[in-house]
Amino acid sequence: MITKTTLDRVLNLHSPVAPILSVYLDTHPNSPHGPAKLRLKNLIKQAKEATPVEDLEHDAKSSFRQDLEKLEALEEQLVTPQAPGYAIFACSALDVLEVLPLPRRVRDRIVVDSDAYVRPMLAILDEYRRYCAVVLDRRQAAIYEFYMGELLDTEIRISEGVRKKNFAGYYGLKEHNVRNHAEEVAHRHYRAVAAALFDRFKAHHYDLLLIGGHEETNEEFQQFLHPYVRERVAGTFTIDPSTMTMGELKEACARLEREFEEAEERQLVQQLLDGAVHERRAVLGIQRTLDAANAAAIGTLLIQDGVTRPGAICDNCGHLALEATACPNCQTPMREVPDVLDELAEDTINEGGSVEHIRSETQLKEHGVGAMIRFPVPVLSQASS
Ligand SMILES: [Zn+2]
Repeated sequence: MITKTTLDRVLNLHSPVAPILSVYLDTHPNSPHGPAKLRLKNLIKQAKEATPVEDLEHDAKSSFRQDLEKLEALEEQLVTPQAPGYAIFACSALDVLEVLPLPRRVRDRIVVDSDAYVRPMLAILDEYRRYCAVVLDRRQAAIYEFYMGELLDTEIRISEGVRKKNFAGYYGLKEHNVRNHAEEVAHRHYRAVAAALFDRFKAHHYDLLLIGGHEETNEEFQQFLHPYVRERVAGTFTIDPSTMTMGELKEACARLEREFEEAEERQLVQQLLDGAVHERRAVLGIQRTLDAANAAAIGTLLIQDGVTRPGAICDNCGHLALEATACPNCQTPMREVPDVLDELAEDTINEGGSVEHIRSETQLKEHGVGAMIRFPVPVLSQASS
């Protein structure tokens, strides 16, 4: 998992003395691009060829050579990858080697520069929301971070254990007064938890809040939340805070996250389908989506996760197509690519659009891909699908 600390560390990498190597590698076992080990070898070769080592200062030269050796050593490790993609940042002069697992496939690439090349990693991480999870009852609360399927104990515990000195006095009062006092104590506790959550949302920029506990406390606690936090409640789950295990908590968070994101994805796909009527605001299917990309009309690209399609790209003008013919724009012979959706996603981001990978079972599956468009797209090709 990539924590915020790791991310900040990578974002701040800067080396004026020696180059930083940034590597992205698709390590999915069914990658249409073939074995990851071979591709890493090729990337290393590419970096060697593109970097005139003789121009580097002595320290930079030795740092760069060590980095390449470290990358070569990773080839073996990546034969049995733990993730479908990796981002790797190496700079021996800074004593840095970060091998970061990514939650989905990524386009292969190596960049040698004085800064870490982070854009592809940020594009992927952007798809994952950072959740804050609070588990509470009327006396205690614990706050966690839930991110990319992992639960991070943030060590924040709040308990309303402190009693005022005159508390004993209440015992002599009527039953309802004792209840009122218990209520008061619970409310004070809720206010403290709500304040702590607001602070953490401000400090950590969480996207959403998950609330776990007994049904009635989940309900009554929410009115104490700051409006900023309240409108970010993704849902609640029932769990017994005094007996739950971390495993159970993680599972409950993952389930709620999935439910929330599925609902959101369904809504997005519905928008796409509605917009595709007469292609007023959207296009469906690979050919029309390529047409939209070629016209730079894509606002949001929706790709059914896991779908790949061979195709072709013009290296001269960037034109995308399903068949490698002469480019209709500039007549350059087009180059075949194993997955044109990969090029499509890259192109969309470069043109200022955004990309959503739909993981749920939706009607998008029948089309594989579609896009919300910014303006009507002329029919460029004969065979529209
Ligand atoms: Zn062209």
